[in-house]
Amino acid sequence: MQPRDLSAHTVYRAGRGVDEVARELGMDPDDLVKLASNENMYGPSPAAVEAIREGADRMHSYPKASHADLVEAIAEQWSVEGEQVWLGNGGDGVLDYLARAMLEPGDAVLAPEPGFAYYPMSARFHHGTVGTYKLSKADDFAQTPDVVLDSYDGERIVYVTSPHNPTGSEMTNEDVVELAERTDEETLILVDEAYGEFTENPSAADLLDERDDVAVLRTFSKVYGLAGVRLGYGLVPEAWADAYARINTPFAASELACRAGLAALDDDEHVERTVETARWAREYYHEHLDAPTWDSGGNFVLCEVGDATAVADAAEREGVIVRDCTSFGLPECVRVTCGTREDAETAVETINEVLAE
Ligand SMILES: *Cc1c(COP(=O)(O)O)cnc(C)c1O
Repeated sequence: MQPRDLSAHTVYRAGRGVDEVARELGMDPDDLVKLASNENMYGPSPAAVEAIREGADRMHSYPKASHADLVEAIAEQWSVEGEQVWLGNGGDGVLDYLARAMLEPGDAVLAPEPGFAYYPMSARFHHGTVGTYKLSKADDFAQTPDVVLDSYDGERIVYVTSPHNPTGSEMTNEDVVELAERTDEETLILVDEAYGEFTENPSAADLLDERDDVAVLRTFSKVYGLAGVRLGYGLVPEAWADAYARINTPFAASELACRAGLAALDDDEHVERTVETARWAREYYHEHLDAPTWDSGGNFVLCEVGDATAVADAAEREGVIVRDCTSFGLPECVRVTCGTREDAETAVETINEVLAE
């Protein structure tokens, strides 16, 4: 026997891991600077680490109370009802829930190109078809309603990433509203704010009171440093928030994830330090990398280096792992995550040396 026809499905290519690269190069992982996956330069929230230690002896029980507590804390943070908070196994899990709630077999979605690889994957898992809208390098990857609408053809979900991975560009809330106004009533504008904490622009969550066709995605993977825990959430309009109960996987987020998330939400010091350092590093990259970079609202900067694969490989041999953006359709660009001051300085020095060769 065989699985169903998966020929349209692609394989997710993650940034290379420290252990993987260290093993390959015969290096000590501690000597490597990993700036390839937009992870938190300071590691996890210390409060979350503590909460996981303390929660370890409770992991025989299903996460009921901890799930409820976390939903309540998130709802309070955003001034929404608990029902409007859709917890998931990472932001990726939330993308799945939204696809599951929205898509009938054969429904289409519209995703940015270049863009986050999991949007089309998730849509296809849910028997959807995928169209794309193009963000143009010549326009600095500007995200305007017209750029999206040029390719729009009544799709059920339109994915907007703001700040956008891997380019760093953003869409303002005014433009999200215009886009929502100019698309069909049954089209959901899904604003992915995985990097929302790093920008100064307001969250599209501000629109949830007035609109039933905008939803927001947030994650604990980036600013809270909990990528390994797998925890994210959607914020959805009240009008259809009750759909979650019908489509979610029982116990969407684990006991340890919920405890960690709850602790991380309160760890202002870790968040502030992370955001401040990321903003500093963005500027540092703009000023000191000997190659064109783009303004970024995220914890990373896109940099045009010529042959991205060659540059990423050469930097890696020198101990600095950056993201080759060839798989994003940008074979001339690398994406460099904002590290600590020391990481950022090492990265700039190494990349500039590689570029000079
Ligand atoms: C990292 C990221 C996510 C979410 O990742 P999870 O680890 O699954 O929470 C979502 N969208 C974009 C654009 C991302 O870069």
